[in-house]
Amino acid sequence: MAVTTRFAPSPTGYLHVGGARTALYSWLHARQSGGVFRLRIEDTDRERSTPEAVQAILDGMAWLGLAHDGGIEYQTERFERYRALIGQLVEAGHAYPCYSSAEDVEAMREAARARGDKPRYDGTWRPAPGKVLPEPPAGVDPVIRFATPQDGDTVVHDLVKGDIILPNSELDDLVIARGDGTPTYNFCVVVDDMDMGITHVIRGDDHVNNTPRQLAILKALIDIGAAGERAEPPQYAHVPMILGADGKRLSKRHGAVSVMAYREQGILPQALLNYLVRLGWAHGDQEIFSVDEMLAHFDISRVQGGAATFDPDKLLWVNQEHIKAAPADRLEAEFSWHLQRQGIDPSGGPALTDVIDVLRERARTLVEMAEKAAMFYQPVTGYEDKAVNKHGKPPAAERLAEVHAALAGLDDWQPEAIHAAVHRVAEQAEVGLGKVAQPIRIAVSGTAVSPPIDQTLWLLGRDESLARLAAGMEYLRGIAEDAG
Ligand code: GLU
Repeated sequence: MAVTTRFAPSPTGYLHVGGARTALYSWLHARQSGGVFRLRIEDTDRERSTPEAVQAILDGMAWLGLAHDGGIEYQTERFERYRALIGQLVEAGHAYPCYSSAEDVEAMREAARARGDKPRYDGTWRPAPGKVLPEPPAGVDPVIRFATPQDGDTVVHDLVKGDIILPNSELDDLVIARGDGTPTYNFCVVVDDMDMGITHVIRGDDHVNNTPRQLAILKALIDIGAAGERAEPPQYAHVPMILGADGKRLSKRHGAVSVMAYREQGILPQALLNYLVRLGWAHGDQEIFSVDEMLAHFDISRVQGGAATFDPDKLLWVNQEHIKAAPADRLEAEFSWHLQRQGIDPSGGPALTDVIDVLRERARTLVEMAEKAAMFYQPVTGYEDKAVNKHGKPPAAERLAEVHAALAGLDDWQPEAIHAAVHRVAEQAEVGLGKVAQPIRIAVSGTAVSPPIDQTLWLLGRDESLARLAAGMEYLRGIAEDAG
């Protein structure tokens, strides 16, 4: 059977980095073997589930490029299936109605505690050969409990945690349907994983304790033939949680936890995936992975069992490495999104891929890159006093005049030719390059900072460069006259 994994978020908020890592591991494990990656929305908690949260999860997955196969399963659309199976389990003796009230059950738990046992339901309504059940009280809608096998152990061969062994005697008879007939969470998950043909359940280790119960229910479903041909339970892999630097579970207190908040901070999706894949998994000492490399090397069974610590500085470093190395056309769409967000319209300016190539060594995030790119798409609206005072005093304007003349005569508007022309101006004036370059920067950007002059002017183009040099020269002359 083809490897089939799933991501099964509860839509109660945005897609957070912990969920994204679980999704990534599931996606990688499926894609590595040409298998199937499914998406299931666990929306049975109607109070807390919202359509906005579903959309936020879909947006996050799309941005990360974690495409799922087939349609999306929504648990709320599957109630009939759950109900039918609950009926069949009762008929087959794997489940039974229980009329104990919540207070009764609390009293049973209390009694068990008093005896020094694990608090649990005492099995009052559980049928047994020769046992006479109490008379059902009138007017009570019973819950349905799963008759957990009482002998033997439930063993989960977890791919990450190793064998998890639980004596069945420690498992309560779990409620699988409430008094109003609605199925409970643990039951829905089992049915879904069975019906969706999931071969590998990869999820957060906050679900480890549910797993033996889910496995016991699944075995009963297989026993009554509900699983069709399939007789094997899935394999499980419980991925440890992500902690903040203070050792507490990662939460908003630690800064951004939503995947889309990282987008807004200028992190690349490939960089976030790269950072997340390394949280709890390693391939030698390699730190930077393309998605293809992750697919080649990732191994779910080599994920570490212990919690991982989220390090925002390392994420930033990984991001910078990706910005430096990625082909410009792969960064283009994301870069364009950031330009738009900053109100920068790139039409009519230099090609985005050229700007990316010039700026990639200078930006840790795409937010920074877009900020630095603004000068190529927006006119100079003013000149910074500090820069002008430092680099704009006479004879700065004369240098600009010379640069303007030298550049106006260039046949070839390429960085090499621009570079040579600017150097010649400095040589002829017998000054250091900075005495020419800084006035140019003021003229073309209004500040003392820009990428290398040759590349900056090349990107701006001949007409725009000459116009800005002329305007800068005017401005510096005006200032000098006022001062003079
Ligand atoms: N809906 C659960 C969650 O968001 C995941 C359950 C599962 O993967 O089995 O934590």
